Amino acid sequence: MNKSRNITQRWFINNIGLIFIILLTVITAGAILLRSFYYNSARQYLSSKMNMVASILQNSYNDSSTAFSSSVRSVVENWADRDCTELMIITEKGEVELTSSGFVPAVEDPMEDYAKAVEGSSGYYVGRLSTGEKVMALSILLPKNDAGYSAVRVVSSMTEIDWQILFLVLIIMAVCGAILTMAFVSGMYFVRSIVLPVRQIGATARRYAEGDFSVRIKKKNNDEIGELCDIINHMAEELANSENMKNEFISSVSHELRTPLTAIKGWAETIASMPDDSQTVSKGMRVIGAETERLSQMVEELLDFSRMQNGRFTLNKATMDVLAELGDAVLIYAERARRDGITVQYDEPDMLPFIFGDRNRIRQVFINIIDNAIKYSDKGGLVSVQALMPDADHIEIDISDTGCGISPQDLPKIKTKFYKANYTRRGSGIGLAVADEIIAMHGGKLDILSKQGVGTTVKIILPVQKKS
Ligand code: ADP
Repeated sequence: MNKSRNITQRWFINNIGLIFIILLTVITAGAILLRSFYYNSARQYLSSKMNMVASILQNSYNDSSTAFSSSVRSVVENWADRDCTELMIITEKGEVELTSSGFVPAVEDPMEDYAKAVEGSSGYYVGRLSTGEKVMALSILLPKNDAGYSAVRVVSSMTEIDWQILFLVLIIMAVCGAILTMAFVSGMYFVRSIVLPVRQIGATARRYAEGDFSVRIKKKNNDEIGELCDIINHMAEELANSENMKNEFISSVSHELRTPLTAIKGWAETIASMPDDSQTVSKGMRVIGAETERLSQMVEELLDFSRMQNGRFTLNKATMDVLAELGDAVLIYAERARRDGITVQYDEPDMLPFIFGDRNRIRQVFINIIDNAIKYSDKGGLVSVQALMPDADHIEIDISDTGCGISPQDLPKIKTKFYKANYTRRGSGIGLAVADEIIAMHGGKLDILSKQGVGTTVKIILPVQKKS
């Protein structure tokens, strides 16, 4: 909850803050440029007017003072631009004597432009009158004359221009406001498209942590967030599977333990009730022996598995003959297979190179694979065992059956711990996981090829011992 607010806050400060600063700069720069453009244009306009007046007066300046004075008056009286500007004539005393409007300006109104012109710099001034009106004024000095006129001054009100500048600035501000709103709305939409799924993912992950794997995250878009949703959904499926597999494992193992225990208990009671029936006693003892063997094999398998999980599984490697171990394993199972109506076919080759390995563990792998081949075959099935050399550095043991086979969906997973593709047969689902690990620890490979309804072939490839 807190995090998502932080993302929104960070986005707001980083992006909207930045856009706001940029737009503010644009507005300020726009206002400055507009003002300078309009004021310069106004100044140029006034300046051209002044030059016109100066050139008219220039012609009569050498005339008599009365003639000069009348031509000055005529210029002022005929001032055509009186609607927007005012022409003034200033005397040598610095007083306004003639104006095109006929009104003499208030004495307190500043005439800085005139003062500047007298000082010799440009006679330009922008400021406010005593009425508060903003004006632009331009003064140029007249050549010395007998009429006593010192300068011509033109004044223009800036109110209209200021309103125009303000109007344009307001338009720029409105456009910037619209840009900011659009950036905010689209950004908010974008942030929500991240924040909301993240919040949903967080809530779902919390449920997974509590052990509820039933919920799935709805994927909205095909982007990185969508990919994350897929990954999390896949993770939930895997977690749920592994949870199921563990539960199945516990129930399979309990079942596996119960079957021999029931047989042992039953026969023990039978023997106890008929201690003198030697035939029953010997049959019972045989069953008890076989079931005890099965129990201890299973406990060994479980212990091996637990050692592998803890990394405490070790091998006692020595130079060994694979054929001897394979022959033993076939012999152990041939009898049982016959009883189940399954034929075990084994053409033992004369010789195979030795390998460097743990003979008990290798035999355990063979037993496990042959046991599976018989277990997953039905009456009349054929289990064939072959030993060969695919190349000079490896030996290969193939154990094929004509049993139920494995579906293509299950095939990649059956070497995974606890995974059982077939719940109709006894087994804990760890035999192949242990066998695969043992072969890998010998630098070999355990491949399984299978076709459902046709049969399965397990290929065990082991490296031959290098002659030193
Ligand atoms: P399990 O103790 O259940 O046999 P394994 O690890 O040995 O466990 O095998 C895992 C699964 O692989 C089995 O549950 C079974 O579905 C499948 N499987 C293994 N070998 C064969 C086979 N020869 N034919 C058909 N299915 C097999």
